[in-house]
Amino acid sequence: MISYEEAVERFEPVIGLEVHVELGTDSKMFCGCATAFGAEPNSQVCPTCLGLPGSLPVVNGKAVESAIRIGLALNCRIVDWCRFARKNYFYPDMPKNFQTSQYDEPIAVDGHTTVVLDGGDTVRIEIERAHMEEDTGKSLHVGGTTGRIHGASHSLVDYNRSGIPLVEIVTRPVVGPDARAPEVARVYVAHLRALLLALGVSDVRMEQGSLRCDANVSLRPRGIEPLGTRTETKNVNSLRSVERAVRHEVCRQAEVLLDGGTVTQETRHWHEDTGVTTPGRSKEQAEDYRYFPEPDLVPVAPSAGWVDQLRGTLPELPATRRTRLAAKWGFSELEMRDTVGAGALDLVEATVAEGAAPQAARKWWLSVLARTANERGVALSELPVSPRQVADVQGLVDAGRVTDRLARDVLEGVLAGEGSPDEVVAARGLDVVSDDAALTAAVDRAIAANPEVADKVRVGKTAAAGALIGAVMKDLRGQADAARVRELVLDRLG
Ligand SMILES: [Zn+2]
Repeated sequence: MISYEEAVERFEPVIGLEVHVELGTDSKMFCGCATAFGAEPNSQVCPTCLGLPGSLPVVNGKAVESAIRIGLALNCRIVDWCRFARKNYFYPDMPKNFQTSQYDEPIAVDGHTTVVLDGGDTVRIEIERAHMEEDTGKSLHVGGTTGRIHGASHSLVDYNRSGIPLVEIVTRPVVGPDARAPEVARVYVAHLRALLLALGVSDVRMEQGSLRCDANVSLRPRGIEPLGTRTETKNVNSLRSVERAVRHEVCRQAEVLLDGGTVTQETRHWHEDTGVTTPGRSKEQAEDYRYFPEPDLVPVAPSAGWVDQLRGTLPELPATRRTRLAAKWGFSELEMRDTVGAGALDLVEATVAEGAAPQAARKWWLSVLARTANERGVALSELPVSPRQVADVQGLVDAGRVTDRLARDVLEGVLAGEGSPDEVVAARGLDVVSDDAALTAAVDRAIAANPEVADKVRVGKTAAAGALIGAVMKDLRGQADAARVRELVLDRLG
């Protein structure tokens, strides 16, 4: 396949992103069934979410509230009246043969949000709509090797997910960022994830499907106005995959077009293992769904007073918080991005609150602790070390009791369950040698062992002192303050 660079030289990629977020409500969108993830299959179902004849839906007020708050956080206009519609299609995981969704009357419209790319450039993403709908059940294809329907001997359906409230957030075509489209897609989904988490409306676990992204990609020859034919890659379920899937589609479509072919409008599946997309079904047109207003539900008409009240519940949004903390802590854009990327922002903030300097807090969380979390395959917040303990370790450094290098050993001791930083220092004997008599004795030993180096320092070549300092530090197994050792060395050699 042709390279990405070659593809974007010839064509301008245009993306559009549809993100489905499962709301974290206790009950489903139109019935009182529980929504816990991972429950015994078909244990959280009732006549309504099984679509049995005669059952009637009732709207979940909490879900509407969440949808409004999401809309407000995305700077959307909240409509004063909207309805649900039936989206008709047949699929075994949807027993009613229609999905209750919103069609031409979504609850939130015409928003925008600004994302920050790697390096600090910003892109304003226009939000076309955020609408409410229900999730479908889940099909499990058994007997094959891939878990897909092809090659399976039979299929099972779990309706626990059927009727879980979803909000679908749809962007307008994103045309600005051009060659950085794959990155924009990733950054946008990460931005939404942080925003939804701050709103507390979802656990946004991509690996459990509570945040799913469909990526629309089309290409147009440079300088040509109309958009090209798009494909929609469904259910991409990690940030990295979003970027890879868009990148792959750009290359694939460019190759089709350069070969004189045409891009087929269709949905496509993303294959994590091979990094390619393959065709799904050809894309239905809206008319194929025969949308019509849901007759069993009354319209949703949020009052201006309620919307204002919900606006008052919006938390500080992640982008605002990031800017505020970067300024307060004196972090560069890159330092802040690394901190957020490592999932360390809350931890650094808590460590600073425990008295550590911001840069020191950042340093510990992003070095030895990040490495350990990575080795253990856990999140930073799951490590057995608290912000308080990290602040205490830095406190030991600040008080001159341990060096930076020894502080790493202290943290390792804490992580190994050896107790508090003070206990680790005591148990491992990590206190620096601060007794000048002991330090001077070590300096004298180093001078005696390296007479030629000592002579150089005596005649003013102070750069040579490094070798003596190194010898002292080795002698004292690193448990000395190098700056103090240097002073003593220079002092001894005049
Ligand atoms: Zn139910």
